[in-house]
Amino acid sequence: MSLIVQKYGGTSVGTPERILNVAKRILETKKAGNRVVAVVSAMSGVTNRLIELADKVTGEAEPTEREMDVLLATGEQTTIALTAMALNAMGEKAVSLTGAQAGIETDGVHTKARISNISPEGVHELLNDGNIVILAGFQGKTPDGKITTLGRGGSDLTAIAMAAAIDADLCQIYTDVDGVYTCDPRVVPEARKIDEISYDEMLEMASSGTKVMQSRSVEFAKKFGVTFEVRSSLNNNPGTIVREETMSMESVVIRGVSLERAQAKVTISGVNDLPGTAGKIFGAVSDANLIVDMIVQNVSQTGTTDISFTVHKDDVAKAEKALSPVLAELGDGVGVEAQDGIAKLSVVGIGMRSHSGVAAEMFQALSEAGINIKMISTSEIKITVTVAEDQIDEAAKVMHDAFGLAG
Ligand code: ADP
Ligand code: ASP
Ligand code: MG
Repeated sequence: MSLIVQKYGGTSVGTPERILNVAKRILETKKAGNRVVAVVSAMSGVTNRLIELADKVTGEAEPTEREMDVLLATGEQTTIALTAMALNAMGEKAVSLTGAQAGIETDGVHTKARISNISPEGVHELLNDGNIVILAGFQGKTPDGKITTLGRGGSDLTAIAMAAAIDADLCQIYTDVDGVYTCDPRVVPEARKIDEISYDEMLEMASSGTKVMQSRSVEFAKKFGVTFEVRSSLNNNPGTIVREETMSMESVVIRGVSLERAQAKVTISGVNDLPGTAGKIFGAVSDANLIVDMIVQNVSQTGTTDISFTVHKDDVAKAEKALSPVLAELGDGVGVEAQDGIAKLSVVGIGMRSHSGVAAEMFQALSEAGINIKMISTSEIKITVTVAEDQIDEAAKVMHDAFGLAG
């Protein structure tokens, strides 16, 4: 008898019919002789609608974070009850648990909390009593009982963390595509499903826009050695196995292409080229809990320089606000300017460690397609450029072709 954690995302539980489909799949897994914990997301669109409702009642003010989490957690709470009810109606023993009820403890950073501990005794007891456990994704509680949520896409993290905590034999992430593809199949229809991918590649893809997995969940899987499979809830095709890298994985130079839209470039100009300047700037940005990427500093010729970074376009106002006291401190002539309409394009592959010339090939292919590169950053297994947002789909197709990813 195996212990299996399954996670069903928003589209997989998006309608009552889809919830019944999920309930049937869970039941089949149980009937095949397994114990099952099924993590479910909010029905598709629900989390976004809850955020809109919060905006409507708060106007110009930011919703209080504590209440935001109380609100957001209701999306998943609806789905657990409906899924458990559906199984009960099929004559099966199933019990729903919120994150808090399942013993998922987090820090107190509302709307992007980190899991600090899981006490799975209650889950084990329910399983030992013959129940299927239906667990709410995306949520937990602080040690003093406040409801928290784990950041967008956080049900992936719930599934992987629970799989680690109960030492599950299998962790399956069910979604609306057959697995992880060489690029988002909605953008590049020729994209191919990847059979096997290393944690590092999946992590780089997830953190550069491949939203099929939440990047923090992949980080967690890597840290605790949780092998998992991404597969479809709508068929029985084998999916993509995400695991520790193997020797044979190195032979593929580029595993996939990621894209991320809605970025903005923030440039701070005229700053003195002195030790401590960057520290002040990014200290202020990080204190505002903003995720910055692709930091570029120009060479200084006259003792002053420009520093640019990218953020999500919705975070520009927050970044400008966080920077304003620092700018005053940095002296006269320092200015800040933001430009949106930018997107990021990344190529990812562990084979890059042992192959040179990938950057040159990438830049050449983009130039042949008449696509201008604005910023560049690299890591050991990833190269990212920014391009105009209206060219990103074309740029992704060009990359996919240039590296022969369609096979
Ligand atoms: P869920 O609701 O199941 O969590 P998500 O919407 O978070 O699903 O993720 C699935 C979506 O991710 C797919 O529908 C697909 O459009 C998108 N996606 C982006 N890049 C990729 C990729 N490289 N491979 C597969 N899916 C991708
Ligand atoms: N419902 C949450 C979201 O939309 C969590 C998830 O689906 O994983 O981000
Ligand atoms: Mg998701």
